Amino acid sequence: MDKIKKILVANRGEIALRIIRSAKELDIPTVAVFSKADEKSSHVAFADEAWCIGPSSPAESYLNIPAILTVAELSGANAIHPGYGFLAENEEFARICEDSNIKFIGPSYQLLGLMGNKSQARKTMKKANVPIVPGSSGNVETFQELQKTVKSIGYPVIIKAASGGGGKGMRIVRSEKELEKKYNMAKNEARNSFKDESVYVEKYIESPHHIEVQILGDNYGNLIHLGERDCSIQRKHQKIIEESPSPKLSDEKRKKILGSAMKAAKTIKYNSVGTIEFIVDKDLNYYFMEMNTRIQVEHTVSEERADMDLLSKQIRIANGEKLKIKQENVHFSGHVIEVRINAEDPVNNFMPSPGLIKNVHFPGGYGVRIDTFIFPGYNVPPYYDSMIAKLIVRGENRSQTIKRLNRALDEFWIDGIRTNINFLKEIINTKAFLKGEYNTHFVEEFLSGT
Ligand code: ADP
Ligand code: ADP
Ligand code: MG
Repeated sequence: MDKIKKILVANRGEIALRIIRSAKELDIPTVAVFSKADEKSSHVAFADEAWCIGPSSPAESYLNIPAILTVAELSGANAIHPGYGFLAENEEFARICEDSNIKFIGPSYQLLGLMGNKSQARKTMKKANVPIVPGSSGNVETFQELQKTVKSIGYPVIIKAASGGGGKGMRIVRSEKELEKKYNMAKNEARNSFKDESVYVEKYIESPHHIEVQILGDNYGNLIHLGERDCSIQRKHQKIIEESPSPKLSDEKRKKILGSAMKAAKTIKYNSVGTIEFIVDKDLNYYFMEMNTRIQVEHTVSEERADMDLLSKQIRIANGEKLKIKQENVHFSGHVIEVRINAEDPVNNFMPSPGLIKNVHFPGGYGVRIDTFIFPGYNVPPYYDSMIAKLIVRGENRSQTIKRLNRALDEFWIDGIRTNINFLKEIINTKAFLKGEYNTHFVEEFLSGT
Protein backbone atom coordinates (compact mmCIF):
# COMPACT_ATOMS: atom_id res chain seq x y z
CA MET A 1 0.00 0.00 0.00
CA ASP A 2 1.08 3.55 -0.72
CA LYS A 3 2.54 5.75 1.99
CA ILE A 4 0.08 7.94 3.85
CA LYS A 5 -0.26 11.27 2.01
CA LYS A 6 -3.27 12.79 3.70
CA ILE A 7 -5.39 11.70 6.67
CA LEU A 8 -9.14 12.07 6.90
CA VAL A 9 -10.18 12.35 10.54
CA ALA A 10 -13.53 10.57 10.89
CA ASN A 11 -14.42 11.98 14.30
CA ARG A 12 -15.11 15.19 16.22
CA GLY A 13 -14.28 16.89 19.50
CA GLU A 14 -11.05 16.55 21.43
CA ILE A 15 -9.93 13.31 19.78
CA ALA A 16 -10.24 14.79 16.28
CA LEU A 17 -8.02 17.67 17.37
CA ARG A 18 -5.62 15.26 19.08
CA ILE A 19 -5.18 13.34 15.81
CA ILE A 20 -4.75 16.53 13.76
CA ARG A 21 -2.02 17.70 16.15
CA SER A 22 0.09 14.56 15.79
CA ALA A 23 -0.43 14.42 12.02
CA LYS A 24 0.74 18.03 11.73
CA GLU A 25 3.93 17.23 13.60
CA LEU A 26 4.50 14.36 11.17
CA ASP A 27 3.99 16.75 8.21
CA ILE A 28 0.89 14.88 7.08
CA PRO A 29 -2.01 17.10 5.92
CA THR A 30 -5.43 16.44 7.45
CA VAL A 31 -9.03 16.56 6.30
CA ALA A 32 -11.74 17.21 8.88
CA VAL A 33 -15.29 16.06 8.32
CA PHE A 34 -18.09 17.66 10.30
CA SER A 35 -21.82 17.67 10.87
CA LYS A 36 -23.87 20.85 10.53
CA ALA A 37 -23.80 21.17 14.33
CA ASP A 38 -19.99 21.19 14.35
CA GLU A 39 -19.35 23.85 11.74
CA LYS A 40 -17.63 26.09 14.30
CA SER A 41 -15.74 23.37 16.12
CA SER A 42 -11.97 23.39 16.65
CA HIS A 43 -11.23 20.31 14.58
CA VAL A 44 -12.75 22.12 11.59
CA ALA A 45 -10.61 25.19 12.25
CA PHE A 46 -7.30 23.39 12.71
CA ALA A 47 -7.42 20.77 9.94
CA ASP A 48 -5.94 21.70 6.58
CA GLU A 49 -9.35 21.33 4.97
CA ALA A 50 -12.85 20.55 6.18
CA TRP A 51 -15.92 19.03 4.55
CA CYS A 52 -19.50 18.94 5.80
CA ILE A 53 -20.83 15.37 5.70
CA GLY A 54 -24.40 15.77 6.91
CA PRO A 55 -26.84 16.96 9.53
CA SER A 56 -26.29 16.81 13.27
CA SER A 57 -27.45 13.26 13.96
CA PRO A 58 -24.46 10.88 14.18
CA ALA A 59 -26.18 8.31 11.95
CA GLU A 60 -26.31 10.86 9.13
CA SER A 61 -22.83 12.32 9.68
CA TYR A 62 -20.05 10.69 11.73
CA LEU A 63 -21.48 7.22 11.04
CA ASN A 64 -22.29 7.97 7.41
CA ILE A 65 -19.82 5.67 5.65
CA PRO A 66 -20.67 6.63 2.03
CA ALA A 67 -20.32 10.35 2.81
CA ILE A 68 -16.99 9.83 4.59
CA LEU A 69 -15.58 7.70 1.77
CA THR A 70 -16.73 10.24 -0.80
CA VAL A 71 -14.82 12.98 1.01
CA ALA A 72 -11.73 10.75 1.17
CA GLU A 73 -11.95 10.22 -2.57
CA LEU A 74 -12.57 13.87 -3.48
CA SER A 75 -9.95 15.28 -1.10
CA GLY A 76 -7.28 12.75 -2.00
CA ALA A 77 -6.97 11.39 1.55
CA ASN A 78 -5.51 7.89 1.43
CA ALA A 79 -5.83 7.18 5.15
CA ILE A 80 -8.65 7.48 7.69
CA HIS A 81 -8.25 7.82 11.45
CA PRO A 82 -11.49 6.83 13.21
CA GLY A 83 -10.63 8.09 16.72
CA TYR A 84 -12.79 6.42 19.41
CA GLY A 85 -16.52 5.69 19.41
CA PHE A 86 -18.36 6.12 16.07
CA LEU A 87 -16.64 3.90 13.44
CA ALA A 88 -13.49 3.09 15.42
CA GLU A 89 -14.32 -0.57 16.00
CA ASN A 90 -16.48 -1.15 12.95
CA GLU A 91 -15.07 -4.17 11.11
CA GLU A 92 -17.15 -3.55 8.01
CA PHE A 93 -15.92 0.04 7.72
CA ALA A 94 -12.27 -1.00 8.12
CA ARG A 95 -12.76 -3.67 5.46
CA ILE A 96 -14.36 -1.23 3.02
CA CYS A 97 -11.41 1.14 3.59
CA GLU A 98 -8.96 -1.59 2.76
CA ASP A 99 -10.93 -2.57 -0.35
CA SER A 100 -10.89 1.06 -1.45
CA ASN A 101 -7.13 1.30 -0.96
CA ILE A 102 -7.53 3.63 2.01
CA LYS A 103 -5.39 2.93 5.08
CA PHE A 104 -7.56 2.47 8.17
CA ILE A 105 -5.39 3.78 11.02
CA GLY A 106 -5.96 1.02 13.53
CA PRO A 107 -5.58 -2.74 13.65
CA SER A 108 -6.48 -4.96 10.67
CA TYR A 109 -10.22 -5.45 10.14
CA GLN A 110 -9.77 -9.13 11.01
CA LEU A 111 -8.61 -8.10 14.50
CA LEU A 112 -11.57 -5.75 14.90
CA GLY A 113 -13.78 -8.76 14.15
CA LEU A 114 -11.88 -11.11 16.41
CA MET A 115 -12.02 -8.85 19.48
CA GLY A 116 -15.19 -6.90 18.62
CA ASN A 117 -17.38 -9.78 19.62
CA LYS A 118 -16.76 -9.89 23.36
CA SER A 119 -17.86 -13.47 23.92
CA GLN A 120 -15.68 -14.60 21.02
CA ALA A 121 -12.77 -12.62 22.49
CA ARG A 122 -13.19 -14.53 25.76
CA LYS A 123 -12.77 -17.81 23.89
CA THR A 124 -9.62 -16.56 22.17
CA MET A 125 -8.12 -15.43 25.47
CA LYS A 126 -8.99 -18.66 27.22
CA LYS A 127 -7.15 -20.57 24.53
CA ALA A 128 -4.16 -18.30 25.05
CA ASN A 129 -4.18 -19.10 28.78
CA VAL A 130 -5.15 -15.60 29.81
CA PRO A 131 -7.51 -15.83 32.80
CA ILE A 132 -11.10 -14.85 31.90
CA VAL A 133 -14.06 -14.10 34.19
CA PRO A 134 -15.91 -17.38 34.90
CA GLY A 135 -18.98 -17.56 32.68
CA SER A 136 -20.47 -18.87 29.46
CA SER A 137 -18.18 -20.18 26.77
CA GLY A 138 -19.51 -18.02 23.96
CA ASN A 139 -22.99 -16.54 23.68
CA VAL A 140 -25.95 -17.88 25.63
CA GLU A 141 -28.46 -18.86 22.97
CA THR A 142 -31.46 -19.76 25.12
CA PHE A 143 -32.84 -19.02 28.57
CA GLN A 144 -32.31 -22.68 29.52
CA GLU A 145 -28.64 -22.42 28.61
CA LEU A 146 -28.37 -19.25 30.68
CA GLN A 147 -29.94 -20.99 33.69
CA LYS A 148 -27.51 -23.86 33.37
CA THR A 149 -24.45 -21.61 33.20
CA VAL A 150 -25.63 -19.48 36.11
CA LYS A 151 -26.15 -22.63 38.18
CA SER A 152 -22.51 -23.55 37.67
CA ILE A 153 -21.03 -20.10 38.43
CA GLY A 154 -23.51 -18.91 41.08
CA TYR A 155 -25.10 -15.51 41.72
CA PRO A 156 -24.52 -12.61 41.26
CA VAL A 157 -23.98 -12.62 37.50
CA ILE A 158 -23.80 -9.97 34.80
CA ILE A 159 -25.43 -10.44 31.40
CA LYS A 160 -23.54 -8.52 28.71
CA ALA A 161 -24.08 -7.68 25.05
CA ALA A 162 -21.53 -9.47 22.85
CA SER A 163 -21.28 -6.37 20.64
CA GLY A 164 -21.52 -3.98 23.60
CA GLY A 165 -19.50 -0.88 24.39
CA GLY A 166 -19.72 2.47 26.13
CA GLY A 167 -21.07 0.82 29.30
CA LYS A 168 -24.34 -0.14 27.57
CA GLY A 169 -26.20 -3.45 27.38
CA MET A 170 -25.20 -4.85 30.79
CA ARG A 171 -27.54 -6.22 33.45
CA ILE A 172 -26.55 -7.40 36.91
CA VAL A 173 -28.65 -10.27 38.25
CA ARG A 174 -28.62 -11.16 41.94
CA SER A 175 -31.22 -13.91 42.13
CA GLU A 176 -33.08 -16.52 40.11
CA LYS A 177 -36.37 -14.64 40.24
CA GLU A 178 -35.06 -11.70 38.20
CA LEU A 179 -33.02 -13.77 35.76
CA GLU A 180 -35.55 -14.07 32.93
CA LYS A 181 -36.63 -10.43 33.07
CA LYS A 182 -33.03 -9.15 33.05
CA TYR A 183 -32.10 -11.58 30.27
CA ASN A 184 -34.84 -10.12 28.07
CA MET A 185 -33.90 -6.56 29.02
CA ALA A 186 -30.26 -7.17 28.14
CA LYS A 187 -31.21 -8.73 24.80
CA ASN A 188 -33.55 -5.84 23.94
CA GLU A 189 -30.98 -3.21 24.83
CA ALA A 190 -28.34 -5.10 22.85
CA ARG A 191 -30.59 -5.24 19.79
CA ASN A 192 -31.54 -1.57 20.04
CA SER A 193 -28.05 -0.24 20.75
CA PHE A 194 -25.85 -2.58 18.76
CA LYS A 195 -28.18 -4.22 16.20
CA ASP A 196 -27.09 -7.57 17.62
CA GLU A 197 -29.07 -9.27 20.36
CA SER A 198 -26.45 -11.84 21.30
CA VAL A 199 -25.49 -11.81 24.96
CA TYR A 200 -23.15 -13.76 27.23
CA VAL A 201 -22.95 -14.13 30.96
CA GLU A 202 -20.15 -13.66 33.48
CA LYS A 203 -19.77 -13.98 37.19
CA TYR A 204 -20.39 -10.52 38.66
CA ILE A 205 -17.24 -9.63 40.58
CA GLU A 206 -18.05 -7.68 43.76
CA SER A 207 -16.16 -4.47 44.53
CA PRO A 208 -13.56 -4.88 41.80
CA HIS A 209 -10.98 -2.63 40.24
CA HIS A 210 -10.98 -1.96 36.51
CA ILE A 211 -7.34 -2.14 35.48
CA GLU A 212 -6.27 -1.98 31.85
CA VAL A 213 -2.99 -2.25 29.99
CA GLN A 214 -1.95 -0.01 27.08
CA ILE A 215 -0.47 -2.02 24.24
CA LEU A 216 1.43 -0.87 21.17
CA GLY A 217 2.29 -3.29 18.36
CA ASP A 218 3.46 -3.02 14.75
CA ASN A 219 3.03 -5.14 11.61
CA TYR A 220 6.28 -7.03 12.23
CA GLY A 221 5.55 -8.64 15.57
CA ASN A 222 7.18 -5.95 17.72
CA LEU A 223 5.10 -5.30 20.79
CA ILE A 224 5.42 -3.19 23.94
CA HIS A 225 3.15 -2.15 26.78
CA LEU A 226 2.95 1.31 28.32
CA GLY A 227 1.95 0.19 31.77
CA GLU A 228 -1.46 -0.05 33.40
CA ARG A 229 -4.24 2.41 34.17
CA ASP A 230 -6.72 2.14 37.00
CA CYS A 231 -10.14 3.21 35.70
CA SER A 232 -12.30 2.16 38.64
CA ILE A 233 -13.82 5.58 39.24
CA GLN A 234 -16.87 5.14 37.02
CA ARG A 235 -20.48 6.20 36.86
CA LYS A 236 -22.91 3.87 35.11
CA HIS A 237 -19.97 1.77 33.86
CA GLN A 238 -18.39 4.85 32.26
CA LYS A 239 -14.98 6.04 33.35
CA ILE A 240 -14.61 9.45 34.97
CA ILE A 241 -11.12 9.38 36.51
CA GLU A 242 -8.15 7.30 35.37
CA GLU A 243 -4.75 7.00 36.99
CA SER A 244 -1.42 5.26 36.62
CA PRO A 245 0.11 3.45 38.39
CA SER A 246 -2.86 1.74 40.02
CA PRO A 247 -2.85 2.29 43.81
CA LYS A 248 -4.27 -1.22 44.18
CA LEU A 249 -1.41 -3.27 42.72
CA SER A 250 1.77 -4.61 44.26
CA ASP A 251 4.79 -4.64 41.95
CA GLU A 252 4.55 -8.39 41.74
CA LYS A 253 0.87 -8.35 40.74
CA ARG A 254 1.50 -5.55 38.27
CA LYS A 255 4.16 -7.60 36.55
CA LYS A 256 1.75 -10.54 36.24
CA ILE A 257 -1.05 -8.44 34.73
CA LEU A 258 1.31 -6.72 32.31
CA GLY A 259 2.64 -10.16 31.33
CA SER A 260 -0.86 -11.50 30.67
CA ALA A 261 -1.73 -8.44 28.60
CA MET A 262 1.39 -8.94 26.50
CA LYS A 263 0.53 -12.60 26.05
CA ALA A 264 -2.98 -11.65 24.92
CA ALA A 265 -1.67 -9.12 22.39
CA LYS A 266 1.02 -11.47 21.13
CA THR A 267 -1.44 -14.31 20.60
CA ILE A 268 -3.56 -12.25 18.25
CA LYS A 269 -0.53 -10.51 16.65
CA TYR A 270 -1.91 -7.12 17.55
CA ASN A 271 -0.69 -4.37 15.23
CA SER A 272 -1.77 -0.95 16.50
CA VAL A 273 -2.59 0.83 19.76
CA GLY A 274 -5.01 -1.14 21.86
CA THR A 275 -6.03 -1.82 25.42
CA ILE A 276 -6.56 -5.04 27.31
CA GLU A 277 -9.11 -4.52 30.09
CA PHE A 278 -9.02 -6.62 33.24
CA ILE A 279 -11.32 -6.84 36.19
CA VAL A 280 -9.44 -7.34 39.47
CA ASP A 281 -11.21 -8.72 42.54
CA LYS A 282 -10.65 -7.92 46.23
CA ASP A 283 -8.05 -10.66 46.53
CA LEU A 284 -6.21 -9.35 43.48
CA ASN A 285 -7.28 -12.19 41.21
CA TYR A 286 -7.49 -10.71 37.74
CA TYR A 287 -9.52 -11.67 34.70
CA PHE A 288 -9.59 -10.53 31.08
CA MET A 289 -12.76 -8.51 30.43
CA GLU A 290 -12.44 -7.17 26.90
CA MET A 291 -10.07 -5.58 24.45
CA ASN A 292 -10.52 -2.09 23.01
CA THR A 293 -9.05 -2.19 19.52
CA ARG A 294 -8.59 1.57 19.17
CA ILE A 295 -7.11 4.64 20.78
CA GLN A 296 -8.87 5.30 24.08
CA VAL A 297 -10.00 8.47 25.79
CA GLU A 298 -7.48 7.88 28.59
CA HIS A 299 -4.44 7.12 26.38
CA THR A 300 -3.07 10.46 27.59
CA VAL A 301 -2.38 8.98 31.03
CA SER A 302 0.09 6.51 29.51
CA GLU A 303 1.54 9.15 27.18
CA GLU A 304 2.43 11.32 30.14
CA ARG A 305 3.79 8.52 32.25
CA ALA A 306 5.95 6.97 29.53
CA ASP A 307 6.67 10.28 27.75
CA MET A 308 5.54 8.98 24.37
CA ASP A 309 3.20 10.39 21.71
CA LEU A 310 0.92 7.37 21.15
CA LEU A 311 -1.04 8.96 18.31
CA SER A 312 2.14 9.64 16.40
CA LYS A 313 3.30 6.05 16.95
CA GLN A 314 -0.08 4.74 15.82
CA ILE A 315 0.06 6.73 12.57
CA ARG A 316 3.66 5.72 11.85
CA ILE A 317 2.87 2.05 12.45
CA ALA A 318 -0.11 2.26 10.08
CA ASN A 319 2.32 3.77 7.59
CA GLY A 320 4.38 0.59 7.70
CA GLU A 321 7.14 1.78 10.02
CA LYS A 322 8.72 -0.55 12.52
CA LEU A 323 8.31 0.04 16.23
CA LYS A 324 11.93 0.57 17.19
CA ILE A 325 11.64 1.14 20.92
CA LYS A 326 12.18 -1.94 23.08
CA GLN A 327 10.33 -2.60 26.31
CA GLU A 328 13.42 -2.07 28.43
CA ASN A 329 13.74 1.43 26.99
CA VAL A 330 10.23 2.47 28.00
CA HIS A 331 10.71 4.44 31.20
CA PHE A 332 7.85 5.24 33.49
CA SER A 333 8.06 8.19 35.79
CA GLY A 334 5.90 9.62 38.53
CA HIS A 335 2.15 9.47 38.82
CA VAL A 336 -0.53 10.63 36.38
CA ILE A 337 -4.25 11.27 36.89
CA GLU A 338 -6.80 12.21 34.24
CA VAL A 339 -10.27 13.58 34.96
CA ARG A 340 -12.99 13.86 32.34
CA ILE A 341 -14.79 17.21 32.29
CA ASN A 342 -18.38 16.70 31.14
CA ALA A 343 -21.09 19.20 30.20
CA GLU A 344 -23.59 17.80 32.69
CA ASP A 345 -25.32 18.77 35.90
CA PRO A 346 -24.33 16.55 38.86
CA VAL A 347 -26.99 18.06 41.13
CA ASN A 348 -29.66 17.29 38.57
CA ASN A 349 -28.94 13.60 38.05
CA PHE A 350 -26.08 14.37 35.64
CA MET A 351 -28.44 15.72 33.03
CA PRO A 352 -26.53 16.82 29.92
CA SER A 353 -25.94 20.57 29.91
CA PRO A 354 -25.24 21.72 26.35
CA GLY A 355 -25.23 25.37 25.32
CA LEU A 356 -23.10 28.47 24.94
CA ILE A 357 -19.79 28.67 26.78
CA LYS A 358 -19.69 32.37 27.58
CA ASN A 359 -16.23 32.23 29.01
CA VAL A 360 -13.64 29.67 30.00
CA HIS A 361 -10.36 29.76 31.86
CA PHE A 362 -8.05 26.77 31.49
CA PRO A 363 -5.61 25.72 34.21
CA GLY A 364 -1.93 25.56 33.35
CA GLY A 365 1.51 25.44 34.86
CA TYR A 366 3.95 22.67 35.55
CA GLY A 367 2.66 19.12 35.11
CA VAL A 368 -0.75 20.16 33.75
CA ARG A 369 -2.14 19.17 30.33
CA ILE A 370 -5.53 19.97 28.84
CA ASP A 371 -6.94 18.17 25.81
CA THR A 372 -10.06 19.96 24.67
CA PHE A 373 -11.85 21.55 21.75
CA ILE A 374 -13.87 24.19 23.60
CA PHE A 375 -13.20 27.94 23.67
CA PRO A 376 -15.03 31.10 24.78
CA GLY A 377 -18.06 31.48 22.54
CA TYR A 378 -18.28 27.78 21.66
CA ASN A 379 -21.75 26.28 21.65
CA VAL A 380 -21.75 22.70 23.02
CA PRO A 381 -24.18 20.81 20.78
CA PRO A 382 -26.69 18.46 22.43
CA TYR A 383 -26.25 15.61 19.94
CA TYR A 384 -23.01 14.01 21.08
CA ASP A 385 -21.08 12.69 24.07
CA SER A 386 -20.99 15.21 26.91
CA MET A 387 -17.22 15.07 27.47
CA ILE A 388 -15.80 18.50 26.65
CA ALA A 389 -12.28 18.36 28.09
CA LYS A 390 -9.69 16.11 29.69
CA LEU A 391 -7.44 17.44 32.41
CA ILE A 392 -4.28 15.38 32.82
CA VAL A 393 -1.95 16.04 35.72
CA ARG A 394 1.48 14.60 36.33
CA GLY A 395 3.50 14.61 39.55
CA GLU A 396 6.35 12.83 41.29
CA ASN A 397 4.05 10.70 43.39
CA ARG A 398 0.34 10.18 43.98
CA SER A 399 -0.14 12.69 46.78
CA GLN A 400 1.68 15.46 44.93
CA THR A 401 -0.37 14.71 41.83
CA ILE A 402 -3.63 14.98 43.77
CA LYS A 403 -2.50 18.35 45.20
CA ARG A 404 -1.69 19.57 41.71
CA LEU A 405 -5.01 18.27 40.41
CA ASN A 406 -6.82 20.18 43.14
CA ARG A 407 -5.18 23.47 42.24
CA ALA A 408 -5.71 22.82 38.50
CA LEU A 409 -9.43 22.17 39.07
CA ASP A 410 -9.58 25.40 41.12
CA GLU A 411 -8.20 27.27 38.12
CA PHE A 412 -10.72 25.69 35.72
CA TRP A 413 -13.66 28.02 35.13
CA ILE A 414 -16.41 27.41 32.63
CA ASP A 415 -19.20 30.02 32.43
CA GLY A 416 -22.51 29.45 30.70
CA ILE A 417 -23.08 25.72 31.08
CA ARG A 418 -23.02 23.30 33.99
CA THR A 419 -20.09 20.92 34.37
CA ASN A 420 -18.88 18.21 36.73
CA ILE A 421 -15.80 20.20 37.85
CA ASN A 422 -16.99 20.62 41.45
CA PHE A 423 -18.12 17.02 41.58
CA LEU A 424 -14.63 15.90 40.54
CA LYS A 425 -13.13 18.06 43.30
CA GLU A 426 -15.36 16.39 45.85
CA ILE A 427 -14.44 12.92 44.63
CA ILE A 428 -10.68 13.42 44.70
CA ASN A 429 -10.82 14.82 48.23
CA THR A 430 -12.71 11.93 49.79
CA LYS A 431 -10.76 9.83 52.28
CA ALA A 432 -11.18 6.77 50.10
CA PHE A 433 -9.73 8.40 47.01
CA LEU A 434 -6.89 10.03 48.93
CA LYS A 435 -5.95 6.66 50.35
CA GLY A 436 -6.35 4.94 46.97
CA GLU A 437 -8.95 2.67 48.49
CA TYR A 438 -11.78 2.66 46.01
CA ASN A 439 -13.44 0.27 43.61
CA THR A 440 -15.91 0.48 40.71
CA HIS A 441 -18.83 1.12 43.12
CA PHE A 442 -17.17 4.16 44.63
CA VAL A 443 -19.15 6.86 42.80
CA GLU A 444 -22.47 5.12 43.29
CA GLU A 445 -21.78 4.78 47.03
CA PHE A 446 -20.57 8.36 47.27
CA LEU A 447 -23.77 9.62 45.62
CA SER A 448 -26.05 7.55 47.81
CA GLY A 449 -24.13 8.63 50.90
CA THR A 450 -23.21 5.11 52.00
P1 ADP B 1 -12.74 4.54 26.75
O1 ADP B 1 -13.31 5.53 27.68
O2 ADP B 1 -12.07 3.42 27.43
O3 ADP B 1 -11.98 5.08 25.60
P2 ADP B 1 -15.44 4.11 26.18
O4 ADP B 1 -16.06 2.76 26.14
O5 ADP B 1 -15.82 5.04 27.25
O6 ADP B 1 -13.92 3.83 26.08
O7 ADP B 1 -15.70 4.75 24.78
C1 ADP B 1 -15.24 5.99 24.33
C2 ADP B 1 -16.31 6.63 23.53
O8 ADP B 1 -16.84 5.75 22.58
C3 ADP B 1 -17.49 7.07 24.38
O9 ADP B 1 -17.99 8.22 23.78
C4 ADP B 1 -18.45 5.91 24.25
O10 ADP B 1 -19.77 6.33 24.48
C5 ADP B 1 -18.21 5.49 22.83
N1 ADP B 1 -18.40 4.05 22.55
C6 ADP B 1 -17.58 3.05 22.87
N2 ADP B 1 -18.00 1.87 22.40
C7 ADP B 1 -19.14 2.12 21.75
C8 ADP B 1 -20.07 1.32 21.00
N3 ADP B 1 -19.91 0.01 20.84
N4 ADP B 1 -21.13 1.92 20.49
C9 ADP B 1 -21.31 3.25 20.63
N5 ADP B 1 -20.46 4.06 21.28
C10 ADP B 1 -19.39 3.52 21.84
P1 ADP C 1 -17.77 -1.83 27.75
O1 ADP C 1 -17.53 -2.59 26.48
O2 ADP C 1 -19.07 -1.16 27.79
O3 ADP C 1 -16.60 -0.98 28.12
P2 ADP C 1 -16.87 -3.75 29.77
O4 ADP C 1 -17.03 -5.20 29.54
O5 ADP C 1 -15.52 -3.18 29.58
O6 ADP C 1 -17.92 -2.98 28.84
O7 ADP C 1 -17.41 -3.35 31.21
C1 ADP C 1 -17.58 -2.01 31.61
C2 ADP C 1 -17.57 -1.89 33.11
O8 ADP C 1 -18.62 -2.69 33.71
C3 ADP C 1 -16.30 -2.39 33.77
O9 ADP C 1 -15.31 -1.40 33.81
C4 ADP C 1 -16.80 -2.77 35.17
O10 ADP C 1 -16.93 -1.63 35.98
C5 ADP C 1 -18.18 -3.31 34.90
N1 ADP C 1 -18.13 -4.79 34.71
C6 ADP C 1 -18.08 -5.45 33.54
N2 ADP C 1 -18.03 -6.80 33.73
C7 ADP C 1 -18.04 -6.99 35.06
C8 ADP C 1 -18.01 -8.16 35.92
N3 ADP C 1 -17.95 -9.39 35.41
N4 ADP C 1 -18.04 -7.97 37.26
C9 ADP C 1 -18.12 -6.72 37.78
N5 ADP C 1 -18.15 -5.61 37.04
C10 ADP C 1 -18.11 -5.71 35.71
MG1 MG D 1 -14.68 -1.63 28.53
